[in-house]
Amino acid sequence: SEPRRSLSLFLESGVYRLEGSGGAVFVDPVRVLNRALARFSISPSAYYSRFFEPGPSEADRGGSNGRKRKRRARKPLVLNDRERVAAQRHQEARPFLVKAHEALVGATELRSLMLKMKGEVATAEDRKLAPPGVPPSFIELGRLWQAPLYEITLNFLQEKPTGDGGPSIIHSKEQKVIPIFNNLVHNGTKDDLEAEFLGSQYVIPRESCFYMSDLQQIHRMIPVEGDAHFHFIVIDPPWENGSAQQKSRYPTLPNKYFLSLPVQQLAHREGALVALWVTNREKLRNFVEKELFPAWGVKFLATFYWLKVKSDGSLICDLDLFHHRPYECILLGFCDKEGMDPRDLSRLSTIQDKRVLMSVPGDYSRKPPLEELVLEYIPGTKPARCVELFARDMRAGWYSWGNEPLHFQEMRYFQKR
Ligand code: SAM
Repeated sequence: SEPRRSLSLFLESGVYRLEGSGGAVFVDPVRVLNRALARFSISPSAYYSRFFEPGPSEADRGGSNGRKRKRRARKPLVLNDRERVAAQRHQEARPFLVKAHEALVGATELRSLMLKMKGEVATAEDRKLAPPGVPPSFIELGRLWQAPLYEITLNFLQEKPTGDGGPSIIHSKEQKVIPIFNNLVHNGTKDDLEAEFLGSQYVIPRESCFYMSDLQQIHRMIPVEGDAHFHFIVIDPPWENGSAQQKSRYPTLPNKYFLSLPVQQLAHREGALVALWVTNREKLRNFVEKELFPAWGVKFLATFYWLKVKSDGSLICDLDLFHHRPYECILLGFCDKEGMDPRDLSRLSTIQDKRVLMSVPGDYSRKPPLEELVLEYIPGTKPARCVELFARDMRAGWYSWGNEPLHFQEMRYFQKR
């Protein structure tokens, strides 16, 4: 039957296409990311530590035990201009979000699988196996005058024939020690690498690179060779939003700093699809549309929504809370370049507006992978060259830039296959 087929596709790909939902999908980031890893896999209990916690779910904690949660002060009925525009944007998105969520609620087989996953995570052995100690903060180390002196050790596993022509293979280690900051660190092999830095272990996926630096050095990411530019550029900037929680996790930057991101210079001459994560602040949306995209030379294509759900399929908070929405937006645009194939251009123009991606959130501000939704629209020759700016993790085949692209590559987020 159709749901069974969708379910087995989901188990394989990590993406569940919801029937009759206007193109909405449910994504399990762990499954999606693991498809590209060979020797390691992401540990679901580490990824989902926030929403797969054992014990009562967040929803259960709210009411019945007598400890009523404080209600936020009600919004005054009179909205200012900006709030009115924001409310209208929300009203435009609402039908799509509701339809997508209804489809998820209706996908009973998927939901029972999610609950089973939650149960498995809660009892998983690897919960107790997180390596001891706190990994170093790249953000802090990168600011020290000693930063250029820090080095990372890459451990290459080498396969050697035994010499007698037999099938057995001996693994030997070859080490490479190179600067970790302001340096392009590349795993050109077809295998995941283990790396070591200040006593912590990291996974460097096959055929991936990172450049760890401050924004001031981002121009070093611009490829010198004509064909090494990017077809897909994902950007998740450290927008200011005033939340104390955010401030404790990573530094933020005023909007004007993002105007000079070299998006046009990173884009491939065959064109590039650009995906920008934005928050729901109206001021920000206005800035992106009126200033940022024009400054980057990016033409707007469509808005996608990331709707955040718990492992039981319910929304993480009420859809209509004014200052805290259970969704974030992705603005898609493209760099039109001289070498762009007209067929790529016309395919881009058919990209569906207001698609909804649902997933259970990982760590604070960690975003789910988007490629599954946009793969067919990425212009240029395949395999597409992809880069993430302000990245906190690495992906097989991708470039990652930011001040902590190794953050989620630490061994505590992985298990050996
Ligand atoms: N997309 C990421 C994920 O899914 O985990 C989250 C990115 S987070 C919104 C923004 C990142 O930008 C943080 O890692 C932060 O440390 C980094 N950042 C802040 N200021 C920076 C700067 N001046 N230069 C480089 N990166 C910076």
